[in-house]
Amino acid sequence: MSLTTRAKSRGIAIVGGGIAGLVASRVLNRHQYVCTIIEPRTELTLGGAGLVLWPAAVRALSQLGFSDVLGLGTPLRESILRDTKGRTLLRIPLAFSRDRQPHALTRQSLMRLLNQDQCNPILAKSCTDISDVEHRPVLTFSDGTRMEAGGVIVAAGMNSTLRQSVSPNAQPRDCHRTSWRGVAPIEDERLAGGTGIETLGLGCRVGLFPAGNGFSYWFVQQNLHADGLIAKPSARAWLEERLRSWPEPIARIIAATPEESIVETPISEMLPQPRWQRGNALLIGDAAHGMAPDLGRGACAAIVNLLAFDCVLSKYESFSQAAHSYVKARRRVSWVIQHASRLAGSLRQIENRFLYTVRNTLWRFLPPLLLFRLIVPLLTKRLKKRS
Ligand SMILES: Cc1cc2nc3c(=O)[nH]c(=O)nc-3n(C[C@H](O)[C@H](O)[C@H](O)COP(=O)(O)OP(=O)(O)OC[C@H]3O[C@@H](n4cnc5c(N)ncnc54)[C@H](O)[C@@H]3O)c2cc1C
Repeated sequence: MSLTTRAKSRGIAIVGGGIAGLVASRVLNRHQYVCTIIEPRTELTLGGAGLVLWPAAVRALSQLGFSDVLGLGTPLRESILRDTKGRTLLRIPLAFSRDRQPHALTRQSLMRLLNQDQCNPILAKSCTDISDVEHRPVLTFSDGTRMEAGGVIVAAGMNSTLRQSVSPNAQPRDCHRTSWRGVAPIEDERLAGGTGIETLGLGCRVGLFPAGNGFSYWFVQQNLHADGLIAKPSARAWLEERLRSWPEPIARIIAATPEESIVETPISEMLPQPRWQRGNALLIGDAAHGMAPDLGRGACAAIVNLLAFDCVLSKYESFSQAAHSYVKARRRVSWVIQHASRLAGSLRQIENRFLYTVRNTLWRFLPPLLLFRLIVPLLTKRLKKRS
């Protein structure tokens, strides 16, 4: 029996059935690996709010056989940035061409699409330990049972300690911000035709998107040391109070969101990057390159990276060789996106009143092309300095 056949017949365990885990399972299935997803939730499609998929991720999903993604959600035509008085600061065109548009959609619709291949996931069980990753990884579960695998993919998200089986000291960095996300079963004419609206306050901002099929997706990000953060027995009541004077349709959409579906996630990032691979264990998704959500790229990066993994799997005999080549190809580019997301976050979450006014005035009055020419070299310079 060749090495590949042995690895394939022993199978790959995918720890975590989020977006990265489900896409990884499609990739492995395409290369005849037997794989099993391990997920603590009782259903793979449960929960979540919404997200934006950028054109590269939409294309990558189509290439991996999920072409129905184009029918999900709403293609975005433009993004409007405005201040808390409702004044437009910047209009960003997003419809580059018919097949190069970001899509806003609900997570549930995306998870249903990605969940087509799961014959035998192990649900309602979490993995507590992974040992012997150099040779034959052994997974231990919360109920004390164990499983041996030919390889293991750790897709357990930003806060998982399982990444330490690959990168012992790596931990996410706290960005001192929190977020709430929700999906409301209503549409709003201001979002019609594919308009996303982002409203920027001091240390707080709200994004609204049309998510298709009569739904709107929203998020709020709040700096944790900004004024006004209080204990919150009800997230929705607290948000309604906090955003009471902000322009519509913020209050309308948040009020229409079922309280129990609002998700709060503290913001963190995986910087500096952990090691992504050790022997037959590979980190993917947020476990490897979790980033601040300010460019809406976290899930997109996982998907685009996994398309690259799909390409290398056809070239290499063994899982660990393919994983090694994948890491070499995608680590640096993911690092750049992580840093760009961090910079976008600092720019959007400004809480100093003077800087806030300067930024808004520039955005409001400078022609977008000139702004782009000023900001891009600045970002590139900062990124080069950090590398
Ligand atoms: C406010 C906000 C807005 C965002 N907006 C966007 C956007 O517009 N576009 C975009 O591309 N990205 C966005 N992101 C980022 C995106 O949500 C993540 O990058 C993406 O969900 C990561 O997917 P993942 O599968 O790696 O991790 P996760 O989605 O965290 O999934 C990890 C899975 O592992 C499971 N798990 C955890 N521990 C264990 C264990 N011990 N054993 C087994 N399973 C386990 C969990 O139950 C979970 O199902 C946003 C993030 C935030 C916070």
